[in-house]
Amino acid sequence: MKEFNGKTAFITGGGSGIGLGMARVFVDAGMRVVIADIRQDHLDEAMTFFDQPAHVHPMILDVSDRDAMARAAREAENVFGPVHVLCNNAGINIISPLDQAGYEDWDWLLSVNLGGVINGLVTFIPHFREHGQGGHIVNTSSIAGIVAGPGNGIYSATKFAIRGLSESLRYDMAVYGVGVSVLCPGTVATNLHKSEEHRPSVYEGKINETIQEIRSLTGRLFKEVLPTGMDPVEVGKKVLRGIKNNDFYIMPHPEFREEFQESFNEIIAALPDEPLDPVREVHEEKRRSTRREAREKAEKMGRRK
Ligand code: NDP
Repeated sequence: MKEFNGKTAFITGGGSGIGLGMARVFVDAGMRVVIADIRQDHLDEAMTFFDQPAHVHPMILDVSDRDAMARAAREAENVFGPVHVLCNNAGINIISPLDQAGYEDWDWLLSVNLGGVINGLVTFIPHFREHGQGGHIVNTSSIAGIVAGPGNGIYSATKFAIRGLSESLRYDMAVYGVGVSVLCPGTVATNLHKSEEHRPSVYEGKINETIQEIRSLTGRLFKEVLPTGMDPVEVGKKVLRGIKNNDFYIMPHPEFREEFQESFNEIIAALPDEPLDPVREVHEEKRRSTRREAREKAEKMGRRK
């Protein structure tokens, strides 16, 4: 996608942080933007950042609610016409070491972080197919979708999944002229530390002192670290550039080279040093060449559009 003026974007979690950063950059590029967010006060606050409020349509949406997502898509189209850029960005984070995590922790993060992306895709892909004007999908993963650390296993599970499905999506959507990027930020100065404050009662589970302490950790630790992060508007600018270049990976932060290298070296080193099985190798070569072709098509599409 090279031309943004007059095009429409739909951003989940657009009322705060990275989503709002993207919305501000997109509006400056001449786009009409729908910001969908779960809290009205964040939407109201977000609207104060726009000089051209007529180019922004705020709406309440819980991304884990499939019917609400379908209604939101219809509303977006009624207001601004076909959606060209979909940003599945809404997300939450909690620190919950896996030895202490309960089903309520898993269900909450899976339903918002991964469920939200799935619902966005299942709702909007037919819309992209029907309007046939091409476009771009950006799914927000994280550095935690590439390397996992202690205490963030559930979050990492959702973000690894988003990265994996985005790569397949990239190949599947090329035929419609729709590019796909996966956004993998490091630390960004946002409200992510407030996730736990808004945990819905249905995901409360049984709370004892240990759980209470773990839950308050999320706020305390992230509150210290997040303000040192990148400005969300800078992330938004990098996303716009990534869409223009049809980059699959949008990596706003430079500081992870060594860690990635270590992690991928460990994977490669774990491969057995054995002769290849000739029968298996035939199948693997077919699979590899299918992937190679799909990748070339996806890359070519970006050069053409
Ligand atoms: P923010 O909390 O500032 O923004 C997250 C947004 O998602 C908020 O607008 C929030 O709404 C919204 N949201 C939460 N739950 C729902 C829901 N059920 N339905 C709809 N909207 C919802 O944090 P970030 O900007 O940091 O987070 C954006 C994305 O970036 C997330 O996917 C996060 O995992 C990812 N990320 C963030 C990093 C960081 O360092 N900040 C690093 C790597 C990835 P509300 O404001 O109303 O609570």
